[in-house]
Amino acid sequence: MKNLIFDQEKLEEFRKKNKLQPFRIKQIYQEIFKNSNIDFGNCTSLSKELRESLDKNFEILSIKIKEIIEGYESTKFLFETKNSKTFESVLMYHWHTKNNGDKKINRITLCVSSQVGCAVACIFCVTGKLGFLANLLWEEIIGQLLFANNYIKNKFGKKDDGTYHKVRNIVFMGMGEPLLNYNNVKKSIEIMLGQGYGFSLSKRHITISTSGIIPGIQKMIDDNIESMLAISLHAPNQELREKLVPIGKKYKLNELIYILDNYYKKTKNRIFYEYIMIKDMNDLSKNAIELSKLLKHQNCHINLIPYNENPAMPNLQETETSSIYKFKEILENNGLTVTVRTNMGREEKSACGQLGWENIAKG
Ligand code: SAH
Ligand code: SF4
Repeated sequence: MKNLIFDQEKLEEFRKKNKLQPFRIKQIYQEIFKNSNIDFGNCTSLSKELRESLDKNFEILSIKIKEIIEGYESTKFLFETKNSKTFESVLMYHWHTKNNGDKKINRITLCVSSQVGCAVACIFCVTGKLGFLANLLWEEIIGQLLFANNYIKNKFGKKDDGTYHKVRNIVFMGMGEPLLNYNNVKKSIEIMLGQGYGFSLSKRHITISTSGIIPGIQKMIDDNIESMLAISLHAPNQELREKLVPIGKKYKLNELIYILDNYYKKTKNRIFYEYIMIKDMNDLSKNAIELSKLLKHQNCHINLIPYNENPAMPNLQETETSSIYKFKEILENNGLTVTVRTNMGREEKSACGQLGWENIAKG
C-alpha cells in the first residue's frame, strides 16, 4: 500500500533512503499546496525519476472523484472513500462585476463534509435522514480541498499576480457534524492553516459550523482552535429547539449560550448564528423578539437561511421572503447584526441541506 505524502516521517525516510537533499521535501509540498497538483506526474519542478519514484511509494489524494456537477454559481463534487462511502463538497463562486459589465471571479468558498451522513437528525436536513455512516479521516477532509484547488486551477488558471486561483474560504457546512469528528477536523484545520506544509489559509476564512455540541466547543476553547465558529441555532427557546435539532435535548440552550459567552471571552471571535426560516415553525414575530432577548448581550452575527424545500421532508415549507425581511427588521431594531443568506447552488441540489439528496432518492 502507498503511504500518504502528508506523512512527514515516511517522506523523511524516503528522502534518506534515496539520498535526496532536504530542500526536496519543501519542493514536493510546494508542488502540492502552492501549485495545486494532485498527480506527481505534473510536478515539473521535480526530476522525472523522482516523480516516478514518488508515484510508486506515495499518494496525494486519498479519495476518488465520482461525479462533478458544474454550474455557474457553484460546482458540486461527489467523492468516494476507500470503503466506497460517498460524500459531497460544494465550491461556491463569488463573481465581481467590472465597470464594463464583465464578470470576474472574486473569491471562492469550499463547503466541506466532515462525516458521511449525520447522527444529529435535524428534522429539516437531508444529511440527517441518512443517519451516521462514517467519520471522514483528516486526509479525506484535506482531499476535498486538494481536489477543489486542482479543479479551480484548470478552470480559472492564474490571477493577475501570477499565482493560481484557489479556495479562499472553507466552511464545514457540508455533510456531517464536525464537532462529533473532532480530532480529524482539528488536524485538517492545522493543515489548512499551515505555511509550507499546508494551504496558508487565514483563520478568519475557516468556519466550523455546529449544531451545538457543547463538549466539542469546550475542546475548541481548550485547544485554542483558530477558526471561526458558526452555531446552527434555528430556534430561540429550548422547547422549539428540541423539535428542530434533537441533540438540543442533550445540550441545552442555556448551557450552549453560557459556553459561547466563555468562547467569546477567550477568543474575542464574533459568533455566527445560523437560523433556518421554516414557515410557521420558527419564523413568527414572537420568535424574533425572543431571539433578540437571547442574543442581545453577545457580539454576534445572525444569518437567516431560507429553508431549502426537499421532497424528503414534505411537511416543511420555506418562509416567504417578505416574512424573512420582517423577522430581520425586528432583530435589527434590537441592535443585532443580521444578513439573509442567498441560496447558492439550489439548481445543482447542492445548497445547504440538500447534500445527500441523491442517496436518499436512490434508497
Ligand atoms: N452539522 C453542522 C454542519 C453541517 S449543516 C451544522 O448543523 O451546523 C450546515 C448548515 O446547513 C446548517 O446551518 C444547517 O442548518 C443547514 N441546513 C441543513 N438543512 C437545510 C435546509 N433544508 N435548508 C437550508 N439550510 C439547511
Ligand atoms: Fe447533522 Fe447539521 Fe444536518 Fe443537523 S443540520 S442533521 S447537525 S448535518
